[in-house]
Amino acid sequence: MAFDIEMIKTLYSNFANRIEAARKVTGKPLSLTEKILYAHLWQGNATVAFERGKDYVDFAPDRVAMQDATAQMALLQFMQSGRTKVAVPSTVHCDHLIQAETGANADLAKAKDQNKEVYDFLASVSDKYGIGFWKPGAGIIHQVVLEQYAFPGGMMIGTDSHTVNAGGLGVVAIGVGGADACDVMAGLPWELKFPKLIGVKLTGKLSGWAASKDIILKVAGILTVKGGTGAILEYFGEGATSLSCTGKGTICNMGAEIGATTSIFGYDPKMADYLKGTGRADVAEAANAIATHLTGDPEVYADPKSYFDEVIEINLSELEPHINGPFTPDLAWPLSKFADAVKTNGWPEKLEVGLIGSCTNSSYEDITRAASIARQATAAGIKAKSEFTVTPGSEQVRYTVERDGYLGSFEAIGGIVLANACGPCIGQWARHTNDPDKKNSILTSYNRNFAKRNDGNPNTHAFVASPEITTALAIAGSLTFNPMTDFLENEKGEKIKFTEPEGIEMPLKGFAVEDAGFQAPAEDGSAVQVKVDPDSKRLQLLAPFAEWEHKDLNGLKLLIKAKGKCTTDHISMAGPWLKFRGHLDNISNNMLIGAVNYFNEKTDSVKNQLTGEYGPVPATQRAYKAAGVGSIVVGDENYGEGSSREHAAMEPRFLGVRAVLVKSFARIHETNLKKQGMLALTFANKEDYDKILEDDTIDIEGLLAFSPNKPLQIVLNHADGSNETIQVNHTYNAQQIEWFKAGAALNIIRKEFENR
Ligand code: SF4
Repeated sequence: MAFDIEMIKTLYSNFANRIEAARKVTGKPLSLTEKILYAHLWQGNATVAFERGKDYVDFAPDRVAMQDATAQMALLQFMQSGRTKVAVPSTVHCDHLIQAETGANADLAKAKDQNKEVYDFLASVSDKYGIGFWKPGAGIIHQVVLEQYAFPGGMMIGTDSHTVNAGGLGVVAIGVGGADACDVMAGLPWELKFPKLIGVKLTGKLSGWAASKDIILKVAGILTVKGGTGAILEYFGEGATSLSCTGKGTICNMGAEIGATTSIFGYDPKMADYLKGTGRADVAEAANAIATHLTGDPEVYADPKSYFDEVIEINLSELEPHINGPFTPDLAWPLSKFADAVKTNGWPEKLEVGLIGSCTNSSYEDITRAASIARQATAAGIKAKSEFTVTPGSEQVRYTVERDGYLGSFEAIGGIVLANACGPCIGQWARHTNDPDKKNSILTSYNRNFAKRNDGNPNTHAFVASPEITTALAIAGSLTFNPMTDFLENEKGEKIKFTEPEGIEMPLKGFAVEDAGFQAPAEDGSAVQVKVDPDSKRLQLLAPFAEWEHKDLNGLKLLIKAKGKCTTDHISMAGPWLKFRGHLDNISNNMLIGAVNYFNEKTDSVKNQLTGEYGPVPATQRAYKAAGVGSIVVGDENYGEGSSREHAAMEPRFLGVRAVLVKSFARIHETNLKKQGMLALTFANKEDYDKILEDDTIDIEGLLAFSPNKPLQIVLNHADGSNETIQVNHTYNAQQIEWFKAGAALNIIRKEFENR
């Protein structure tokens, strides 16, 4: 069920040739990252050297993983492709929709009831199209991927920002939007700007309280939340090879918090151990055979400054445990300085809740190290003063640590075991508190700690640390407790000091599980019905977008001239709207409601040119659609920046907007618009933005001769009867022009399959 060893062997058999071709065109030794990227070029060997941070390159990822929230629209779109099976191995993981409240069993049962229609849809669509389906309770996407699918030298995309976790097993693993996942499943290439490279040299060896988590907490402090943007971090050195595979995963996981495209470690014996321990000895054997290709060239690591764009060096022997926060993961405090920081800044000293686990930190090693602290407390007759929760990353981990008595160690200090799901990490937490607005502190071994992330309360000061530090502080009930130096007192008045945590990397009796929660897809899915209730408020099957009508677009009304920043969040807001992410009609009621109207400086208030009245943007656009009138959206600089959210491109398309004309685009959003069959245009002269008036009716001319590098014309018909023509540019290549003509990229793929 787990992976396709033949696919891995085929990839490996091409590795040497592809890397040799890349060395030839670059004329130099290669980092691991470059090797994997060049080995995954779309349709073949490297013929040119790519410029880092500049060139956009087409890749062929080996695998797609989707979590249940983002999978909905990705799969609804995929159904439009006309394929009977996904083009690359893909999986769906039901982890994000389970709310933590009382404990694993009750919470899971409630989630299955509340999300039944979503789970039924995902299970049936997976069954039909050859997608592995991990049921609710099976685990968190990234832990399951690490245990089951990740392999050294692979390239995968996932519809979740912490997809990067798989870098711990040597994968270039990148978080993407649903549209990208849909494309790759449909057999299209996947485009990425060739990343910059940051080398992280790890020397020395961890000891005592310091854990892998502390490495990334330290790196976050160095690079800050933006320091990894557009870059891949490649870890190397003797310190790197000394870390467990799951510890490497933790480091890569939290690379998302510094904005990194992804992070990666080279193949080494620790990875081989993990592959063998998780039932994949054949992958380890195949990787061993090409081991030199699955790490950077020695010249690169011997002289990293000559090959990486930036190099950081950390001596693990000197690394202190860290606690990062509050409100941002890059505010890094060495443990010895943290208590003072808490007092100086007036952060609430009482630790209300300690939460360990999640996709970031729930390995066997993490659990055993944290349990060794809990057991010391129990031996001294001490229970945790804070609330304390444990979130296993997968059923396999949960079953194994329960079998080996570790979950019992947490329960003995008052801990509660939550479902194998995201829960409090993503705000799915019915927190027990009598004052939800109270200023308070929590400490997690998760990754993100932005305001409101965990419990929706802006006054919750969330800090991030390793599971063992989190456990120790939860037992003490205080943020100012330093387990390396301070004593606790039990009921008898005896003072105890924790000894250093001790862990076991891999279970001595091996991993075990009774029911991992996996549903294999049907061999032949043709008879499987995809389950979507026509009356559902959360799910709606998509209908193909209409083809271009083979004429210029005349008589378009200006829907909105957006002023200033207009991110994908302004175009398609998140928050309460996310429950409609599988229902395009319903979620379209958030279209552009965050954008500021240039003419009245208000959000969600635009003039309906048919009535002269002001109203919400979605309602105004629906009125144009009902009247059979197309419209155009005008925007400012970097329109559509932010997370790659396909809804931000689908909603305007669905509601009848024909073109988006801006001073400049964020590249990903521009591509998403093109994929949906929209016209994404830029002012040839940015000052022409000022010529757009509120009552304009707009014609787009030149479409019959639409071709690459050839500008189009726009006629602005002003309300006073005057008009003026401006030139607009576009970046459509020949293929993308076909997308526009067909009405959407997926329409072309569907036609190809229909014609077979
Ligand atoms: S556990 Fe947290 S970080 Fe991991 S996938 Fe779930 S929400 Fe994302």
